[in-house]
Amino acid sequence: MGTGKDEKNATQVVPLSPDQIMDLFYHASTRELMDMGNLACCQVHGRDILLRGLIEFTNVCTNDCLYCGIRNSNHKANRYRMEASMILKALQTGYDRGIRTFVLQGGEDPVYTIDRICGLVRQIKDLGKKDAAVTLSCGIRSREAYFKLAQAGADRYLLRFETADPKLHFLLRNIGLNDRLKALEDIRAAGFQVGSGYMVGLPGETRETRLENILLCQRLELDMVGLGPFIPHPDTPLKHSFQHPLEHTLRSVALVRLALPKAHIPATTAAGSLMPDGREQMIAAGANVLMPNLTQDKFKQKYLLYPGKICLNEKGIQDIESLNQRIRPLNRNLSFARGDALYHLTNMDTGEPK
Ligand code: SF4
Repeated sequence: MGTGKDEKNATQVVPLSPDQIMDLFYHASTRELMDMGNLACCQVHGRDILLRGLIEFTNVCTNDCLYCGIRNSNHKANRYRMEASMILKALQTGYDRGIRTFVLQGGEDPVYTIDRICGLVRQIKDLGKKDAAVTLSCGIRSREAYFKLAQAGADRYLLRFETADPKLHFLLRNIGLNDRLKALEDIRAAGFQVGSGYMVGLPGETRETRLENILLCQRLELDMVGLGPFIPHPDTPLKHSFQHPLEHTLRSVALVRLALPKAHIPATTAAGSLMPDGREQMIAAGANVLMPNLTQDKFKQKYLLYPGKICLNEKGIQDIESLNQRIRPLNRNLSFARGDALYHLTNMDTGEPK
């Protein structure tokens, strides 16, 4: 599968300024934006689509975000918590197939304490897989906790802010946006490669919120940006909310790519759940990552943040070849590289501190 390295030329792609982003946001057509996003992506990342193996290790969460299918108050959610042995087994399957980045995602589960997660990270790193990158996505924790996790060997941390509108953030999540931004600062200080992102089309979001979401990603200088469409879940208070077309998400992907050319941007499952070719469209707008779900079937059917999740019908690791077929018409190839943050590679090359 391709490397596309001959096409990488990150230094020639300059991030657009906030004014330029704003101008395009209000005046460019979706087609124009997608073409620009796609071009910037190919110039920086080549033809490679990076693979990240996703493991959804617990769907227990003490929080109650109004949009979320595994929120604490959803008593219809069928809860599970994977044992370390099951997580390692899923990871081994991905590793044997060549995957070198694993994303461990879960709710804010008090049983999965920091010490327990640190132990898990060490086990992953000790299983002869020191070459594999570990990304954690398990919510807001203390500053000390992030340092401990980084010391245990975790490489990256994802914490989506979901909306840049402080009032809407509080209404939907019952926690201040600033608390979330402070956590992202702590994550960066601990030495992680930092990911965040948002949902497009949340109820109460305005056009200006959609612009501010993009600009906030740029101000945060994110290494990874995850964004996807809001899909109303039938067992949440937002079940009757309006479902926006995928187009808003595609415009956002393109503009985030132009704001942060070096960032890694996944073509998210939520987009593929909304439209059969949603992930392909995200790639055509500037995304450069796919995340096959390695979670065992009996668990992943219970990790339902939103309805209609496509990966339930996919076979995770066995589906890699079919993912490859899907992206060929876009002139892309799957890559099994670790896919570190590009600044990180530059710093390793030069030995310069970040
Ligand atoms: S969005 Fe995350 S923090 Fe909020 S309820 Fe769902 S899993 Fe928990």
